[in-house]
Amino acid sequence: MIDSIKQLQVANSFAQLPAAFYTSLPPQPLSRPRLLHANIDVARMLGLSEAALAEPGFLDVVSGAQPLPGGKTLAAVYSGHQFGVWAGQLGDGRAHLLGEVAGPAGDWELQLKGSGRTPYSRMGDGRAVLRSSVREYLAGEAMAGLGIPTTRALALVVSDDPVYRETVETAAIVTRVSPSFVRFGSFEHWSSSPDKLRALLDYVVERFYPECREAGGGEAGAGHDVVLRFLRAVVLRTADLVAHWQTAGFCHGVMNTDNMSILGLTIDYGPYGFMDGFQVNHVCNHSDSQGRYAWNAQPSVAHWNLYRLASSLLGLGVDAEALKGELAHFEPAFLQTYRSNLCKKLGLSQWQPGDAELVDDWWALLHTQRADFTLSFRALATAPRQAEALLDGFEDRAAAQAWLDRYTQRLAQEGRPEAQRIAQMNRANPLYVLRNHLAQGAIAAAQRGDAGEIDTLLKLLRDPYTEQVGYEAYAAKPPESARHLEVSCSS
Ligand code: AMP
Ligand code: MG
Ligand code: MG
Repeated sequence: MIDSIKQLQVANSFAQLPAAFYTSLPPQPLSRPRLLHANIDVARMLGLSEAALAEPGFLDVVSGAQPLPGGKTLAAVYSGHQFGVWAGQLGDGRAHLLGEVAGPAGDWELQLKGSGRTPYSRMGDGRAVLRSSVREYLAGEAMAGLGIPTTRALALVVSDDPVYRETVETAAIVTRVSPSFVRFGSFEHWSSSPDKLRALLDYVVERFYPECREAGGGEAGAGHDVVLRFLRAVVLRTADLVAHWQTAGFCHGVMNTDNMSILGLTIDYGPYGFMDGFQVNHVCNHSDSQGRYAWNAQPSVAHWNLYRLASSLLGLGVDAEALKGELAHFEPAFLQTYRSNLCKKLGLSQWQPGDAELVDDWWALLHTQRADFTLSFRALATAPRQAEALLDGFEDRAAAQAWLDRYTQRLAQEGRPEAQRIAQMNRANPLYVLRNHLAQGAIAAAQRGDAGEIDTLLKLLRDPYTEQVGYEAYAAKPPESARHLEVSCSS
């Protein structure tokens, strides 16, 4: 472990792309920045010790006052479809890439978010409010704790600088960490520039999808196979990601193509939500008035977004039908992870023909009664023997009991020792998730300069499956007063 951020090994592979891919510029630091929280788990991934987080040089870098030693600071350009409509050029409007750190287990790009205006800011002020920064900071850790692919966050810096949204709030900067921040929209941006598109493809394949590289080549049409293999790989990762979202009750909220990671990671946390009471068409983003990004729409939206990515690859002269053929891998890949996750959550060793109906009826039961997503799944493990905890979550107990009887019969075919089944189910059904009201508690404390709630939530969310004594309230349904919390695109 290294005791100073200044000693990290830093490279800049993204900056080696042609100059058109980005603008080099320094961040605009906040006034009187304070380090509200640093994430020791992510620090260790980078090879940083706990001591490194306390030295002044660390705050200098994560507040944007000093560049990452050896790093080339830049904002990247991309485009995208927002809410189904081509939005044209977007880009890092309030983010700065600092460089790429060679950690003990891989390379990680460091990026500031909320670090000031760039040529891609359009009408925006380049800032992020503390509220949304706390939400982003916590979300990456919550997803990582659930085993869901995600970007992470290293540090949260606060200041008293005002930021004007619906009301006056204060500015913050989150340092995000990811192998790459390239998005579907990065490819869409170059769809009519074959040279740039090829450069981006080569870069991404070389670094992140080396298995897609071509062995031979040279003949006419060379390079087409790598495009198809790459698209297939992104299709598979994205399908897997969204299946994990579905079975965790997670809604992203803004699945625009500029918010879709080319690596299949959850990225750009804004008005996301983990469902409390289950509703199949739950919309977590108050700004999404059409419900485009509702929970049950996420798989088809992901497929639609992959279609946009595939369309942009047409610019490389690849056959349209061949590209379409790769998109057809989405559904089977999605179903594979979805069913495998549900088997774990339901304590089944294998998905059987009648299971689709059993699961659909479970969703319908939860939906009709708005039963709590997380607690209902958690209660299933012991429900065949002790039904109370499960049934208490339903107003129509008879309907819940009827489903439970079918489920209990299904379990009887398994013949697995009960204790083993319960233990395994408790490793698949978390007790703690980042419910909006819990995030809100951490935000309120952070606004008073208190990071204690962030600490508590990180502790619980890093291992969300293990019950912690004294934290019962964190595993409970939201209080009535929190039912009407709304989150929107404003951040
Ligand atoms: P989002 O939907 O939050 O992912 O943002 C879409 C685009 O708007 C991205 O290019 C962002 O960089 C940009 N953006 C969002 N908020 C701001 C802001 N406050 N200032 C500048 N750019 C922003
Ligand atoms: Mg975004
Ligand atoms: Mg955003």
